[in-house]
Amino acid sequence: MDCGDESRRAAEALVNSSHSIAFTGAGVSTESGIPDFRGPNGLWRRFDPRMASVEYFLDDPRGFWAFYSARFKFMLSAKPNAAHFALAELERMGLIKAVITQNVDGLHSAAGSVKVIEIHGSSRTVRCSRCGARASFEDALRLYEETSEPPRCSCGGIYRPDVVLFGEPVVRLGEALDEARRSDLVLVVGSSLTVHPAAEIPLLVKERGGSLLIINMEPTEYDDLADVVIHCPAGKALESVLRKSKEIIESRRRPGEH
Ligand SMILES: [Zn+2]
Repeated sequence: MDCGDESRRAAEALVNSSHSIAFTGAGVSTESGIPDFRGPNGLWRRFDPRMASVEYFLDDPRGFWAFYSARFKFMLSAKPNAAHFALAELERMGLIKAVITQNVDGLHSAAGSVKVIEIHGSSRTVRCSRCGARASFEDALRLYEETSEPPRCSCGGIYRPDVVLFGEPVVRLGEALDEARRSDLVLVVGSSLTVHPAAEIPLLVKERGGSLLIINMEPTEYDDLADVVIHCPAGKALESVLRKSKEIIESRRRPGEH
């Protein structure tokens, strides 16, 4: 597929919209070396899903921390890629008002996106299972590696990942739905829209008469519903959308020079 023609249509829709949001999934972070956690071939699928459940954390915090520290450690060194940077620039241009993400890697913020709603939480922080206080994952990990004991908050409670574990509801859902309700366009990037209820957020925009743009390597079951579909890597497709958005804005500033 030619990313070019379709990205021009996506850029036109973005420039013509009044309130657009991005909804991102694992496909945005694969170019940063982060595997899909929840997808059909996801990291957590290769382990017993109970290892990433709150029941396991409560039942065996030592075993849980051994599993979790090994699996989250590499995310500390991950860097944002072209897809994250393009979305941050689209926000600075006013073409995207918020990023709602299923990712927990913190790379949208690292790339400069300001309004980021992480509905599966963040791997960059931990939170106390007793008082709810947050601390940096990096500090908690250092403590764990020094002591080989699950790190504790000053109140004595054990820190847990600040991400949504299996069996737990998504977070900031109300905020994400509010964004969706006021949007006339949603740009879905790197999500196959199979994880519910998260997938209902972009679909809400479409149901309310807005536009649905999908950038994903693989076909999704919502491609038929979408206004523009681009089956290309996220970084390449978004750089193209960004470039064409700038061209359209520039051409509108200079009438007669199309
Ligand atoms: Zn505490």
